[in-house]
Order: sequence, then structure tokens, then C-alpha cells
Amino acid sequence: MRSYVFPGDIDPKIAAIGAEPFLYMRTDAFSQINLESERILLELIGCKGGRTIIYTGSGTGAMSAVVENYVKTKRKAIVIDGGSFGHRWQQLCAYYGVDHIHFQVPFAHDIDYALLERTIAEQRPDVLLCQHHETSSGQLYDLKELARICHAYGVSPVVDVISTFLAEPLDMDALGLDICITSTQKGLNIPPGLSVLFFSERLKDYPFAHNGYYWDFEDNFSNLKRGQTPFSPATILYLQLNARLRQLQAQGGPEQNIAEVHHRCSVFRALCTRYGWTIPAERPSSAITGIQTADDAQRRIFRGLIEKYDTYIMPGSVPGFYRISHMGLQTDAELEELAARMREFEPK
Ligand SMILES: *Cc1c(COP(=O)(O)O)cnc(C)c1O
Repeated sequence: MRSYVFPGDIDPKIAAIGAEPFLYMRTDAFSQINLESERILLELIGCKGGRTIIYTGSGTGAMSAVVENYVKTKRKAIVIDGGSFGHRWQQLCAYYGVDHIHFQVPFAHDIDYALLERTIAEQRPDVLLCQHHETSSGQLYDLKELARICHAYGVSPVVDVISTFLAEPLDMDALGLDICITSTQKGLNIPPGLSVLFFSERLKDYPFAHNGYYWDFEDNFSNLKRGQTPFSPATILYLQLNARLRQLQAQGGPEQNIAEVHHRCSVFRALCTRYGWTIPAERPSSAITGIQTADDAQRRIFRGLIEKYDTYIMPGSVPGFYRISHMGLQTDAELEELAARMREFEPK
């Protein structure tokens, strides 16, 4: 099998951890692993003096936790909705009864930053919820500009970096972000099942709300002081996360991984040019390539690759639009082969 979805093909050494006996979580050994993971995670995202919570739960669980514990303490949110992940923030606000401005951005377009600034100046929200990269289209947003606008109007920036952590340069302190979210099946390239919240040092004494028993911030923080989790963690995934983080630390930080993602992306984009596939995103992220092919509504390329080659790419919401992840292991030759095989199923 070849995988160009999330998490993509995983390092066999990391995958093998899943088949080994694993330690009991209520031990000092597990606490030490957890505390080490927190330390490396904070280094990788540039969040000095900050904290993390690692949840057993996918990225959406962590997004929900942020709304329950943090956004609920605010007067009004502004939500950037440029696709299905931005829309999820909007749905979470609606679900939890948070007063919010629904700032819509057309599919694969960049944000109109001047309009956003005017909207914020007029309607004075106190928290912004956005993505760094709207993974449904491939559109990357300008976090520097978003952060500048937030700081100019006293808005707390909360960013879903689920598909850019370790795939795009990201420095939480330099940008002045309050909370970031990631999950294990994207840039970390280990199986799905854990999500990570990063809290800036500025939120050290923040009075969080209590609106959900399982995701409660205070409960998680107090357990994490000794490296523990309030409930049974997905132990194997915590061990795979720690092993992966140690690899990144041994590489001296996130730069090498980011460079590898960018390399795969540029190799594949040259092939897209060769085959006449266009990229709708105005400012495409390197995490994935989202392309428009000549395929019709029947998802012929998607199905053909599975049936004939046991190979997975991601279909999109628009007919003929496909997404190829660059976060898993993939060689130049494999990308070349993938593109040729995709071409085989494209209607001529
Ligand atoms: C993958 C992803 C999520 C989380 O989805 P889960 O299926 O809950 O892990 C959220 N936001 C973005 C931008 C993503 O790419």
C-alpha cells in the first residue's frame, strides 16, 4: 500500500512500536516520557515558558476543548471560514452558544485582510479562531498579518496549525499566538488519535471555564504537572509521539523536516505542470498539493488508484479536485510514479 493521505507512510521504526509490549501509564517512567514530549513540543513550535495538553482524541476534540474552556470566557469571537475546517470553528461556536462573527472566505482564496481589519475594528471581537492552512483547499493564510491585526485590536489569536506544524515555518512566540492546536496524523506523521494544545506563557494564570468534563483544562494541567493524564491515555500513541519527537530533536529542530516536506511538494508541483493540473489555492501550503484535474464527478482517479495500485490520495469537495499530502515518507521516484498513475485514470 502507498499512502498520500494523512498521516501518509510512516517510518517503520515508529510503526513497529505499535506491535511491542508497552508500559503501564501510572508509573514514573510514563510521566517522564510525557514531560519530555511536552518539552520537545514547546521547543519545536517556539513557545518558551508555555504549556501543552496532549489529549487522547483527534484534532477536532482539541478544537472543541478550546471553545469549551477558553472561547466561552470571551465576549465575542470572529471565525475565519474558508472551508470545512474553518467551518468547524463556526459550528463549534454555534454548538456552545458563543456569540461570533462568521467571516467567510471563498474556496481556495486568501483572506481579504483589509476587510477583516475593518470588521474587527467595527465589531470588536475579543478572540479570533482560524486555521494556518485550510487543508480542504490547500490555502495557506498569512499568520503574520492575522497576528498583527489581532494585536492592534486586543484580539486573542487562536490558531489551528494541525496541518502546518512541522510542514511550514511556525514560531508561536514570534507571532504572539495565544493557543495553537495540532494532532498526530499530520506533520508529526504518526497514527491518528492524539491532539496537542500549545498555550503561550501569557495564559499561565488565565481563569479558564469548565464546560466539559473530559476536556477540562485545569484538570489536565494539574495532572500534567506530574506527567500524568486524568484518564487512560492511548499509551502506544504517546510512545510513538515521544519517539518521533526525539527524532526531530536529534535533527536539531523542525527545519530539516520542513525542508523535506517542501522538497516533496516542489517535486510534485513540477509534475502537475507537466500534466496540466492547476492549483486553485492563491497561496498554496507545502503540506499538501490540491489540484484540479480533468476528472469528472465519479472520482475516477481516486477509485482507480485504490483498485489497481492500492494507493490512496484525498478526494475533495469539488469534482476533479484532489489533494496529495506531502507529510508522509515519499521519494522523488514514488511521486513521479504516482503522477503517471493518476494520469492513467484521467479522462482524455
Ligand atoms: C486534519 C485537520 C483537523 C482535525 O481533524 P481530525 O479528523 O479531528 O483530526 C482540523 N483542522 C485542520 C486544518 C486539519 O487539517
